[in-house]
Amino acid sequence: MSADAVVVGAGLAGLTAGVRLAEAGLRTTLVGKGPGAMHLAPATIDVLGYAPDLVERPAAALPSFVAERPDHPYARLSADTVAASAEWLSAHMPPLAYVGTLEENYLLPTAVGVPKPSAFVPEAMAAGDLRSGSRFAFAGLRALKDFYPALLADNLSQAKLPTGVTVDARAVHLSDPGTEADVSPLGYARMFEDREFRSVVAAELLPRLEPGESVGFPSVLGLHEHRTTWLDLQDRLGRPVFEVPTLPPSVAGIRLFHALRDAFLAAGGRLLIGSTAAGAETKDGVVTHVVIQTAAARPTPIEARWFVLATGGFAEGAIFLDSYGEVHESVFGLAVSGVPAAGEPRFVPRYFDDQPMGRAGIAVDERLRPLDADGNVAFRNLFTAGAALGGAEPWRELSGNGLALASGFAVASAIVEWAS
Ligand SMILES: Cc1cc2nc3c(=O)[nH]c(=O)nc-3n(C[C@H](O)[C@H](O)[C@H](O)COP(=O)(O)OP(=O)(O)OC[C@H]3O[C@@H](n4cnc5c(N)ncnc54)[C@H](O)[C@@H]3O)c2cc1C
Repeated sequence: MSADAVVVGAGLAGLTAGVRLAEAGLRTTLVGKGPGAMHLAPATIDVLGYAPDLVERPAAALPSFVAERPDHPYARLSADTVAASAEWLSAHMPPLAYVGTLEENYLLPTAVGVPKPSAFVPEAMAAGDLRSGSRFAFAGLRALKDFYPALLADNLSQAKLPTGVTVDARAVHLSDPGTEADVSPLGYARMFEDREFRSVVAAELLPRLEPGESVGFPSVLGLHEHRTTWLDLQDRLGRPVFEVPTLPPSVAGIRLFHALRDAFLAAGGRLLIGSTAAGAETKDGVVTHVVIQTAAARPTPIEARWFVLATGGFAEGAIFLDSYGEVHESVFGLAVSGVPAAGEPRFVPRYFDDQPMGRAGIAVDERLRPLDADGNVAFRNLFTAGAALGGAEPWRELSGNGLALASGFAVASAIVEWAS
Protein backbone atom coordinates (compact mmCIF):
# COMPACT_ATOMS: atom_id res chain seq x y z
CA MET A 1 0.00 0.00 0.00
CA SER A 2 1.28 3.48 -0.70
CA ALA A 3 0.12 7.09 -0.47
CA ASP A 4 1.56 10.57 -0.71
CA ALA A 5 0.59 11.29 2.88
CA VAL A 6 -0.57 9.14 5.78
CA VAL A 7 -2.42 10.75 8.68
CA VAL A 8 -2.68 8.70 11.87
CA GLY A 9 -5.72 9.73 13.90
CA ALA A 10 -9.33 10.48 12.97
CA GLY A 11 -10.07 13.20 15.51
CA LEU A 12 -10.49 16.90 14.72
CA ALA A 13 -6.73 17.35 14.14
CA GLY A 14 -6.29 14.32 11.87
CA LEU A 15 -9.42 14.91 9.82
CA THR A 16 -8.63 18.59 9.35
CA ALA A 17 -5.15 17.70 8.08
CA GLY A 18 -6.56 14.85 5.99
CA VAL A 19 -9.24 16.93 4.27
CA ARG A 20 -6.79 19.71 3.41
CA LEU A 21 -4.17 17.30 2.08
CA ALA A 22 -6.67 15.37 -0.02
CA GLU A 23 -8.19 18.59 -1.36
CA ALA A 24 -4.71 19.76 -2.33
CA GLY A 25 -4.50 16.71 -4.58
CA LEU A 26 -2.25 14.51 -2.43
CA ARG A 27 -3.15 10.82 -2.26
CA THR A 28 -3.98 10.70 1.42
CA THR A 29 -4.69 7.74 3.68
CA LEU A 30 -6.16 8.39 7.11
CA VAL A 31 -5.81 5.62 9.70
CA GLY A 32 -7.89 5.74 12.88
CA LYS A 33 -8.37 3.25 15.70
CA GLY A 34 -11.74 4.89 16.33
CA PRO A 35 -13.47 8.22 15.75
CA GLY A 36 -11.73 10.17 18.56
CA ALA A 37 -13.03 12.80 20.95
CA MET A 38 -15.48 14.43 18.53
CA HIS A 39 -18.10 11.81 19.42
CA LEU A 40 -17.82 12.88 23.05
CA ALA A 41 -16.94 16.57 23.17
CA PRO A 42 -19.07 19.62 22.36
CA ALA A 43 -18.49 20.81 18.80
CA THR A 44 -17.47 24.30 19.91
CA ILE A 45 -14.03 25.48 18.86
CA ASP A 46 -12.63 26.71 22.16
CA VAL A 47 -9.44 28.57 21.35
CA LEU A 48 -8.58 29.93 24.77
CA GLY A 49 -11.08 30.14 27.60
CA TYR A 50 -8.91 30.55 30.70
CA ALA A 51 -5.40 31.97 31.09
CA PRO A 52 -5.86 31.26 34.02
CA ASP A 53 -8.69 33.83 34.45
CA LEU A 54 -11.64 33.89 32.09
CA VAL A 55 -10.59 35.10 28.63
CA GLU A 56 -13.06 37.46 26.96
CA ARG A 57 -10.87 38.31 23.94
CA PRO A 58 -8.69 35.42 22.73
CA ALA A 59 -6.90 37.42 20.01
CA ALA A 60 -5.83 40.00 22.57
CA ALA A 61 -4.90 37.38 25.18
CA LEU A 62 -2.82 35.06 22.97
CA PRO A 63 0.39 37.15 22.67
CA SER A 64 0.98 37.38 26.43
CA PHE A 65 -0.26 33.80 26.91
CA VAL A 66 2.45 32.40 24.61
CA ALA A 67 5.08 34.85 25.86
CA GLU A 68 4.65 33.31 29.31
CA ARG A 69 4.56 29.77 27.87
CA PRO A 70 7.17 29.46 25.11
CA ASP A 71 6.68 25.66 24.97
CA HIS A 72 2.94 25.94 24.35
CA PRO A 73 1.77 24.77 20.88
CA TYR A 74 0.16 28.20 20.35
CA ALA A 75 3.72 29.57 20.36
CA ARG A 76 4.11 27.67 17.05
CA LEU A 77 0.73 28.73 15.63
CA SER A 78 0.12 32.38 14.84
CA ALA A 79 -3.22 33.99 15.65
CA ASP A 80 -3.68 34.31 11.87
CA THR A 81 -3.36 30.53 11.50
CA VAL A 82 -5.90 29.96 14.26
CA ALA A 83 -8.35 32.38 12.61
CA ALA A 84 -7.73 30.93 9.14
CA SER A 85 -8.38 27.40 10.41
CA ALA A 86 -11.75 28.46 11.84
CA GLU A 87 -12.68 30.21 8.58
CA TRP A 88 -11.67 27.09 6.70
CA LEU A 89 -13.85 24.94 8.98
CA SER A 90 -16.84 27.19 8.50
CA ALA A 91 -16.45 27.08 4.74
CA HIS A 92 -16.40 23.28 4.86
CA MET A 93 -19.52 22.88 6.92
CA PRO A 94 -22.30 24.16 4.66
CA PRO A 95 -24.99 22.34 6.62
CA LEU A 96 -23.32 23.27 9.90
CA ALA A 97 -22.19 26.86 9.70
CA TYR A 98 -19.87 28.11 12.43
CA VAL A 99 -20.04 31.66 13.71
CA GLY A 100 -17.65 33.70 15.80
CA THR A 101 -14.34 35.48 15.67
CA LEU A 102 -11.04 35.34 17.47
CA GLU A 103 -11.74 38.82 18.78
CA GLU A 104 -14.22 37.72 21.45
CA ASN A 105 -15.48 34.59 23.17
CA TYR A 106 -19.11 33.62 23.31
CA LEU A 107 -20.27 32.62 26.77
CA LEU A 108 -22.49 29.59 26.32
CA PRO A 109 -24.26 27.52 28.97
CA THR A 110 -23.05 23.96 29.54
CA ALA A 111 -25.48 21.18 30.41
CA VAL A 112 -24.87 21.88 34.10
CA GLY A 113 -25.34 25.62 33.79
CA VAL A 114 -21.73 26.79 33.81
CA PRO A 115 -20.96 29.69 31.44
CA LYS A 116 -18.29 28.45 29.01
CA PRO A 117 -16.11 30.67 26.78
CA SER A 118 -15.83 29.60 23.12
CA ALA A 119 -14.55 31.54 20.11
CA PHE A 120 -16.26 29.68 17.25
CA VAL A 121 -19.57 27.90 17.75
CA PRO A 122 -22.11 26.06 15.62
CA GLU A 123 -24.72 28.62 14.57
CA ALA A 124 -27.47 26.67 16.33
CA MET A 125 -25.71 27.31 19.65
CA ALA A 126 -25.08 31.02 19.23
CA ALA A 127 -28.43 32.29 20.58
CA GLY A 128 -27.46 30.81 23.95
CA ASP A 129 -24.83 33.54 24.37
CA LEU A 130 -25.22 34.66 27.97
CA ARG A 131 -23.41 37.96 27.49
CA SER A 132 -26.59 39.53 26.15
CA GLY A 133 -28.29 38.85 29.50
CA SER A 134 -31.50 37.38 28.12
CA ARG A 135 -34.41 35.40 29.41
CA PHE A 136 -34.05 31.69 28.78
CA ALA A 137 -36.38 28.69 29.04
CA PHE A 138 -34.54 25.35 28.95
CA ALA A 139 -36.59 22.49 27.60
CA GLY A 140 -36.22 19.12 29.30
CA LEU A 141 -37.06 15.90 27.49
CA ARG A 142 -38.51 13.32 29.84
CA ALA A 143 -36.67 10.30 28.50
CA LEU A 144 -33.28 11.96 28.04
CA LYS A 145 -31.00 11.19 30.96
CA ASP A 146 -28.06 13.43 31.90
CA PHE A 147 -29.79 16.67 30.90
CA TYR A 148 -31.51 18.32 33.85
CA PRO A 149 -32.86 21.72 32.82
CA ALA A 150 -33.84 22.67 36.38
CA LEU A 151 -30.25 22.17 37.55
CA LEU A 152 -28.99 24.03 34.48
CA ALA A 153 -31.31 26.99 35.03
CA ASP A 154 -30.66 27.11 38.77
CA ASN A 155 -26.87 27.08 38.37
CA LEU A 156 -27.04 29.62 35.58
CA SER A 157 -29.11 32.02 37.66
CA GLN A 158 -26.32 31.97 40.27
CA ALA A 159 -23.39 31.92 37.84
CA LYS A 160 -20.72 34.61 37.75
CA LEU A 161 -21.35 36.65 34.61
CA PRO A 162 -19.72 39.76 33.19
CA THR A 163 -20.45 42.91 35.15
CA GLY A 164 -23.91 44.28 34.47
CA VAL A 165 -25.20 41.06 32.89
CA THR A 166 -28.10 39.24 34.50
CA VAL A 167 -29.73 36.11 33.21
CA ASP A 168 -33.23 34.94 33.89
CA ALA A 169 -33.38 31.17 33.40
CA ARG A 170 -36.02 28.55 34.09
CA ALA A 171 -36.83 24.97 33.12
CA VAL A 172 -39.81 23.67 31.17
CA HIS A 173 -40.26 19.91 31.28
CA LEU A 174 -41.93 18.29 28.29
CA SER A 175 -43.84 15.05 28.38
CA ASP A 176 -42.82 14.27 24.75
CA PRO A 177 -45.29 11.52 23.97
CA GLY A 178 -44.27 8.39 22.16
CA THR A 179 -41.22 7.73 24.31
CA GLU A 180 -41.69 5.12 26.99
CA ALA A 181 -38.10 4.07 27.69
CA ASP A 182 -34.90 6.08 28.12
CA VAL A 183 -33.80 7.62 24.84
CA SER A 184 -30.19 8.40 23.98
CA PRO A 185 -29.16 11.77 22.49
CA LEU A 186 -28.82 10.06 19.10
CA GLY A 187 -32.29 8.56 19.47
CA TYR A 188 -33.74 12.01 20.14
CA ALA A 189 -31.76 13.52 17.26
CA ARG A 190 -33.51 11.08 14.92
CA MET A 191 -36.91 11.75 16.49
CA PHE A 192 -36.51 15.51 16.06
CA GLU A 193 -35.95 14.98 12.34
CA ASP A 194 -39.58 13.89 12.14
CA ARG A 195 -41.91 16.86 11.47
CA GLU A 196 -44.74 15.26 13.40
CA PHE A 197 -42.59 14.92 16.50
CA ARG A 198 -41.50 18.56 16.23
CA SER A 199 -45.09 19.64 15.87
CA VAL A 200 -46.08 17.78 19.07
CA VAL A 201 -43.13 19.26 20.97
CA ALA A 202 -43.87 22.78 19.75
CA ALA A 203 -47.59 22.47 20.53
CA GLU A 204 -46.81 21.51 24.13
CA LEU A 205 -44.08 24.07 24.60
CA LEU A 206 -45.53 27.18 22.96
CA PRO A 207 -48.31 27.98 25.47
CA ARG A 208 -45.85 27.58 28.33
CA LEU A 209 -43.31 30.10 27.07
CA GLU A 210 -43.25 33.67 28.28
CA PRO A 211 -42.73 36.75 26.12
CA GLY A 212 -39.09 37.49 25.35
CA GLU A 213 -37.79 34.02 26.25
CA SER A 214 -35.30 32.21 24.04
CA VAL A 215 -35.48 28.43 24.20
CA GLY A 216 -32.54 26.13 24.91
CA PHE A 217 -32.80 22.47 23.93
CA PRO A 218 -30.22 19.78 24.61
CA SER A 219 -28.06 19.41 21.52
CA VAL A 220 -30.26 16.77 19.89
CA LEU A 221 -31.95 18.80 17.14
CA GLY A 222 -31.31 16.42 14.27
CA LEU A 223 -28.30 14.49 13.07
CA HIS A 224 -28.35 14.35 9.25
CA GLU A 225 -31.01 17.08 8.86
CA HIS A 226 -29.91 19.29 11.68
CA ARG A 227 -30.26 22.73 10.06
CA THR A 228 -33.78 22.10 8.76
CA THR A 229 -34.77 20.67 12.12
CA TRP A 230 -33.40 23.61 14.10
CA LEU A 231 -34.86 26.29 11.79
CA ASP A 232 -38.24 24.59 11.67
CA LEU A 233 -38.44 24.47 15.46
CA GLN A 234 -37.43 28.12 15.65
CA ASP A 235 -40.20 28.98 13.18
CA ARG A 236 -42.80 27.02 15.08
CA LEU A 237 -41.85 28.67 18.39
CA GLY A 238 -41.43 32.13 16.87
CA ARG A 239 -38.31 32.96 18.90
CA PRO A 240 -34.60 32.11 19.02
CA VAL A 241 -33.96 28.43 19.67
CA PHE A 242 -30.50 27.18 20.57
CA GLU A 243 -28.75 23.97 21.47
CA VAL A 244 -26.90 23.29 24.71
CA PRO A 245 -24.09 20.70 24.43
CA THR A 246 -24.95 17.49 26.26
CA LEU A 247 -22.72 15.13 28.18
CA PRO A 248 -21.32 12.33 25.95
CA PRO A 249 -22.26 11.13 23.45
CA SER A 250 -22.25 14.48 21.65
CA VAL A 251 -24.62 14.72 18.69
CA ALA A 252 -23.10 18.08 17.71
CA GLY A 253 -19.65 16.49 17.72
CA ILE A 254 -20.87 13.53 15.66
CA ARG A 255 -22.27 15.99 13.09
CA LEU A 256 -18.85 17.61 12.88
CA PHE A 257 -17.17 14.23 12.49
CA HIS A 258 -19.59 13.27 9.70
CA ALA A 259 -19.04 16.56 7.87
CA LEU A 260 -15.24 16.23 7.95
CA ARG A 261 -15.30 12.53 7.10
CA ASP A 262 -17.59 13.21 4.13
CA ALA A 263 -15.36 16.06 2.93
CA PHE A 264 -12.33 13.76 3.17
CA LEU A 265 -14.00 11.00 1.17
CA ALA A 266 -15.36 13.49 -1.38
CA ALA A 267 -11.82 14.75 -1.93
CA GLY A 268 -10.71 11.19 -2.72
CA GLY A 269 -9.10 10.33 0.63
CA ARG A 270 -8.81 6.73 1.77
CA LEU A 271 -10.21 6.22 5.27
CA LEU A 272 -9.19 3.21 7.38
CA ILE A 273 -11.24 3.38 10.57
CA GLY A 274 -10.79 0.42 12.90
CA SER A 275 -7.09 0.18 12.03
CA THR A 276 -4.31 0.79 14.52
CA ALA A 277 -0.93 2.18 13.56
CA ALA A 278 1.23 -0.23 15.51
CA GLY A 279 4.67 1.00 14.49
CA ALA A 280 6.74 2.60 11.78
CA GLU A 281 9.77 1.97 9.58
CA THR A 282 12.37 4.71 9.33
CA LYS A 283 15.60 5.28 7.43
CA ASP A 284 18.17 8.10 7.48
CA GLY A 285 16.04 10.47 9.50
CA VAL A 286 12.79 10.00 7.57
CA VAL A 287 9.77 7.83 8.13
CA THR A 288 9.24 5.48 5.18
CA HIS A 289 6.24 3.38 6.31
CA VAL A 290 3.65 3.24 8.99
CA VAL A 291 2.57 -0.28 9.92
CA ILE A 292 -1.11 -0.77 10.48
CA GLN A 293 -2.87 -3.60 12.22
CA THR A 294 -6.52 -4.63 12.10
CA ALA A 295 -8.11 -7.44 14.06
CA ALA A 296 -8.47 -9.61 10.97
CA ALA A 297 -5.41 -8.93 8.85
CA ARG A 298 -1.64 -9.26 9.08
CA PRO A 299 0.39 -6.08 9.83
CA THR A 300 0.43 -3.96 6.65
CA PRO A 301 3.07 -1.31 5.96
CA ILE A 302 1.89 1.82 4.15
CA GLU A 303 4.60 3.74 2.35
CA ALA A 304 4.37 7.52 2.00
CA ARG A 305 6.38 10.70 1.64
CA TRP A 306 4.77 12.54 4.54
CA PHE A 307 3.24 11.41 7.82
CA VAL A 308 1.06 13.17 10.38
CA LEU A 309 0.78 12.01 13.97
CA ALA A 310 -2.64 13.11 15.25
CA THR A 311 -3.31 10.36 17.74
CA GLY A 312 -4.56 12.44 20.67
CA GLY A 313 -3.10 12.30 24.16
CA PHE A 314 -3.17 9.94 27.11
CA ALA A 315 -6.92 9.40 26.76
CA GLU A 316 -6.47 7.73 23.35
CA GLY A 317 -3.43 5.65 24.37
CA ALA A 318 -1.32 7.70 21.97
CA ILE A 319 0.92 8.51 24.90
CA PHE A 320 1.07 5.97 27.69
CA LEU A 321 2.74 5.16 30.98
CA ASP A 322 4.26 1.64 31.23
CA SER A 323 4.42 -0.49 34.35
CA TYR A 324 7.91 0.92 35.13
CA GLY A 325 6.50 4.46 35.11
CA GLU A 326 8.14 5.32 31.77
CA VAL A 327 6.17 7.48 29.32
CA HIS A 328 6.04 6.50 25.63
CA GLU A 329 4.56 7.64 22.33
CA SER A 330 2.94 4.58 20.80
CA VAL A 331 3.50 4.74 17.01
CA PHE A 332 6.89 6.30 16.22
CA GLY A 333 8.56 5.86 19.62
CA LEU A 334 9.02 9.64 19.88
CA ALA A 335 10.46 11.40 22.91
CA VAL A 336 7.75 12.71 25.26
CA SER A 337 8.50 16.09 26.81
CA GLY A 338 7.09 17.62 29.98
CA VAL A 339 7.36 14.40 32.03
CA PRO A 340 8.21 15.01 35.69
CA ALA A 341 11.65 13.75 36.75
CA ALA A 342 11.91 10.36 38.48
CA GLY A 343 10.81 10.61 42.08
CA GLU A 344 8.73 13.76 41.46
CA PRO A 345 4.93 13.45 41.84
CA ARG A 346 3.22 12.71 38.52
CA PHE A 347 -0.39 13.25 39.50
CA VAL A 348 -2.22 15.19 42.19
CA PRO A 349 -5.57 14.01 43.57
CA ARG A 350 -7.93 16.65 42.12
CA TYR A 351 -8.47 16.20 38.38
CA PHE A 352 -8.64 19.87 37.44
CA ASP A 353 -5.66 20.90 39.57
CA ASP A 354 -2.29 21.65 38.01
CA GLN A 355 -1.33 18.05 37.12
CA PRO A 356 2.46 17.61 36.90
CA MET A 357 1.90 15.31 33.90
CA GLY A 358 -0.72 17.62 32.38
CA ARG A 359 1.57 19.19 29.78
CA ALA A 360 3.33 15.97 28.72
CA GLY A 361 3.38 15.40 24.97
CA ILE A 362 5.43 15.78 21.84
CA ALA A 363 7.66 18.84 21.59
CA VAL A 364 7.83 20.26 18.06
CA ASP A 365 9.75 22.74 15.93
CA GLU A 366 8.23 25.76 14.16
CA ARG A 367 6.78 23.49 11.46
CA LEU A 368 5.26 21.12 14.04
CA ARG A 369 7.82 18.37 13.45
CA PRO A 370 8.59 16.25 16.56
CA LEU A 371 11.84 16.84 18.39
CA ASP A 372 14.02 14.13 19.90
CA ALA A 373 15.32 14.19 23.47
CA ASP A 374 18.21 16.48 22.39
CA GLY A 375 15.88 19.02 20.78
CA ASN A 376 16.65 18.03 17.16
CA VAL A 377 14.02 17.20 14.55
CA ALA A 378 13.32 13.47 15.00
CA PHE A 379 12.11 12.75 11.43
CA ARG A 380 12.12 15.34 8.67
CA ASN A 381 8.86 14.20 7.08
CA LEU A 382 6.78 13.61 10.24
CA PHE A 383 4.43 16.30 11.62
CA THR A 384 2.33 16.38 14.79
CA ALA A 385 -1.09 17.90 15.46
CA GLY A 386 -3.74 18.00 18.16
CA ALA A 387 -3.76 16.66 21.69
CA ALA A 388 -0.52 14.73 21.10
CA LEU A 389 1.34 18.05 21.25
CA GLY A 390 3.06 18.79 24.54
CA GLY A 391 3.05 22.02 26.49
CA ALA A 392 -0.72 22.63 26.63
CA GLU A 393 -3.34 21.92 29.26
CA PRO A 394 -6.48 21.83 27.12
CA TRP A 395 -8.84 21.00 29.96
CA ARG A 396 -7.76 23.90 32.14
CA GLU A 397 -7.22 26.39 29.32
CA LEU A 398 -10.27 25.36 27.26
CA SER A 399 -8.08 25.18 24.19
CA GLY A 400 -8.50 21.55 23.02
CA ASN A 401 -10.49 21.97 19.85
CA GLY A 402 -8.82 25.25 18.93
CA LEU A 403 -5.42 23.59 19.10
CA ALA A 404 -6.58 20.47 17.25
CA LEU A 405 -8.11 22.50 14.41
CA ALA A 406 -5.29 25.04 14.04
CA SER A 407 -2.47 22.47 14.24
CA GLY A 408 -4.21 20.06 11.84
CA PHE A 409 -4.64 23.00 9.48
CA ALA A 410 -0.99 24.08 9.90
CA VAL A 411 0.62 20.67 9.32
CA ALA A 412 -1.35 20.30 6.09
CA SER A 413 -0.11 23.75 4.97
CA ALA A 414 3.50 22.71 5.72
CA ILE A 415 3.17 19.50 3.71
CA VAL A 416 1.37 21.13 0.77
CA GLU A 417 4.03 23.83 0.63
CA TRP A 418 6.77 21.15 0.65
CA ALA A 419 5.00 19.14 -2.05
CA SER A 420 4.58 22.08 -4.40
C1 LIG B 1 -15.67 14.33 26.97
C2 LIG B 1 -14.76 15.38 26.38
C3 LIG B 1 -15.11 16.72 26.48
C4 LIG B 1 -14.28 17.69 25.95
N1 LIG B 1 -14.67 18.99 26.02
C5 LIG B 1 -13.94 19.93 25.39
C6 LIG B 1 -14.39 21.28 25.36
O1 LIG B 1 -15.42 21.63 25.91
N2 LIG B 1 -13.61 22.18 24.71
C7 LIG B 1 -12.44 21.83 24.08
O2 LIG B 1 -11.80 22.68 23.46
N3 LIG B 1 -11.99 20.58 24.12
C8 LIG B 1 -12.72 19.62 24.75
N4 LIG B 1 -12.28 18.34 24.78
C9 LIG B 1 -10.95 18.06 24.24
C10 LIG B 1 -10.96 18.05 22.74
O3 LIG B 1 -12.05 17.28 22.30
C11 LIG B 1 -9.65 17.43 22.27
O4 LIG B 1 -8.57 18.15 22.81
C12 LIG B 1 -9.50 17.45 20.79
O5 LIG B 1 -10.67 17.02 20.15
C13 LIG B 1 -8.34 16.56 20.42
O6 LIG B 1 -8.42 16.23 19.06
P1 LIG B 1 -7.34 15.29 18.44
O7 LIG B 1 -7.71 15.12 17.01
O8 LIG B 1 -5.98 15.75 18.75
O9 LIG B 1 -7.46 13.90 19.21
P2 LIG B 1 -8.64 12.86 19.35
O10 LIG B 1 -9.95 13.44 19.05
O11 LIG B 1 -8.43 12.23 20.68
O12 LIG B 1 -8.35 11.81 18.20
C14 LIG B 1 -7.27 10.93 18.25
C15 LIG B 1 -7.45 9.94 17.11
O13 LIG B 1 -6.30 9.12 17.03
C16 LIG B 1 -6.69 7.76 16.96
N5 LIG B 1 -5.57 6.95 17.42
C17 LIG B 1 -4.90 6.99 18.60
N6 LIG B 1 -3.88 6.12 18.58
C18 LIG B 1 -3.91 5.52 17.35
C19 LIG B 1 -3.11 4.53 16.70
N7 LIG B 1 -2.06 3.95 17.30
N8 LIG B 1 -3.45 4.14 15.46
C20 LIG B 1 -4.52 4.70 14.80
N9 LIG B 1 -5.29 5.66 15.36
C21 LIG B 1 -4.98 6.06 16.62
C22 LIG B 1 -7.95 7.72 17.79
O14 LIG B 1 -8.71 6.55 17.52
C23 LIG B 1 -8.62 8.99 17.27
O15 LIG B 1 -9.21 8.78 16.02
C24 LIG B 1 -13.06 17.34 25.32
C25 LIG B 1 -12.71 15.99 25.21
C26 LIG B 1 -13.53 15.02 25.74
C27 LIG B 1 -13.12 13.58 25.62
